[in-house]
Amino acid sequence: MLAEEMLALDCPYCGATIYQPISWFKQTYSTCPACDGGLAAGQFEKTITDLEQAMDENVVEMIFGKPQSGCCGNH
Ligand SMILES: [Zn+2]
Repeated sequence: MLAEEMLALDCPYCGATIYQPISWFKQTYSTCPACDGGLAAGQFEKTITDLEQAMDENVVEMIFGKPQSGCCGNH
């Protein structure tokens, strides 16, 4: 069972850090838990693409700090 990658991205409206699974940010439409602002998938698309690329390059540890056990550990 794969644990989904979690992302912490800043809300473009209120600046709150939104910590959700990647799929949450890829929803067509979602709302910020902090300010209830409308968030379209496109607003995060570039960030997510960059992050996924970083994960491929194993830079992910820089972003997430500690490795989580059971997820992509040997990649
Ligand atoms: Zn917000």
